[in-house]
Amino acid sequence: MITVSELWTRLDSLASPLPAERIPLTSVQGRILREPIRAPEDQPPFDRSAIDGYLVHADQPAGLVTLEGGIQPGAPSPATAPAPGTALRILTGSALPPENASLIMQEDTKLSDDGHRLHLLQPPSSKHIRRRASQARVGDTLLPPGQRLNAGALALLASIGATRPVVSRRARVAHVVTGGELVAPDQSPLAGQIRDSNSTLIAALLRDADADLNWHRRVKNDARTATADALAEALSTDADILLISGGASVGDHDHTGALLVSLGFTLHCDKVASRPGKPFIAASREGRLAFGLPGNPLSHFVCFHLFVKRVLARLAGTEPTSLVRATLAPRAELRPDSRETWWPCVWADEGAQRRVLPLPWRDSSDLTVLGAAEGLLRIPASASPGAEVEVLPCR
Ligand code: AMP
Ligand code: MG
Repeated sequence: MITVSELWTRLDSLASPLPAERIPLTSVQGRILREPIRAPEDQPPFDRSAIDGYLVHADQPAGLVTLEGGIQPGAPSPATAPAPGTALRILTGSALPPENASLIMQEDTKLSDDGHRLHLLQPPSSKHIRRRASQARVGDTLLPPGQRLNAGALALLASIGATRPVVSRRARVAHVVTGGELVAPDQSPLAGQIRDSNSTLIAALLRDADADLNWHRRVKNDARTATADALAEALSTDADILLISGGASVGDHDHTGALLVSLGFTLHCDKVASRPGKPFIAASREGRLAFGLPGNPLSHFVCFHLFVKRVLARLAGTEPTSLVRATLAPRAELRPDSRETWWPCVWADEGAQRRVLPLPWRDSSDLTVLGAAEGLLRIPASASPGAEVEVLPCR
């Protein structure tokens, strides 16, 4: 049985970035950038006014000046600053001449009734000028490869006209759910049956992870041939990753490992020292990855966050979610185990301290805590945790 950290290293060596594609800005939200975005020109590209007010010569002191017109935002600036003794009306965003400009806020002036003479109540200053290149110089890297394109990044791309960025293709995932005891969520289980919740869980987790669930099948009985047929069909699609729910352990109906081997996969792991989530299969065949996740819903959730999400990040060309150092709430009660434990938890703001509070869970089938879980608290094997712990965020 390998440790979680050992499995991470193994998975990192198996998952390389998927091909990149150039797509329109309107479809790119959440994707991972694969080429640096550089400033095509200085940012801002010209000196601009940060205020509504007046433009004067840099040598202009406080006192009386003559108003000689104005510069609308969007209009080119005059080549030179106004002569001393004169002023131009400017608004926020107005382009300014490159030299000898000084500004005064409207609130620091008084305009004569005829609108021709302006009394400057304060000395004008250059502090209200947004200088050319004050944010970035032409050629500077604005966004590095590996950056997830969120709303703010999209706005930056729009502002520089980068309307077709190069990003990772979304990973395509097939999900096979095994278990003769399972019925669809909208069906009434007969005695001894339960509803399949893992299909809904995985579909939602993949949506959050910017991957596409493009094939799904619930195998209706536990016969090995039924699962074999489903796996063969899943592999006939163009899925990059095959996820198999249930059948990863040593029960009479646990066929996942043997079937993957018979289909030509190499097994890299069939058990990991994690609680919950011990029966976990990782396999690969010609660049495709297959994972057998334990059917118990909490184990399914933990294995997705620990391993599948990490692989999805690598396929997208970005870093996996980092563990966060945290302080355990004093009232936390935890039971150590011979395996490393990943305990559903929430953030608790206690005074000025941001602490982490473990949620109560009964066993690996316990779905009642999943809706609240904000992270997975890592508790080292065979150790009572100290005050300092690590959390894998899962929101
Ligand atoms: P397995 O991993 O197939 O041995 O299943 C372990 C436990 O998880 C059993 O109690 C199953 O009934 C339950 N289980 C398996 N698959 C699902 C599923 N899709 N949804 C909810 N529970 C499941
Ligand atoms: Mg099963």
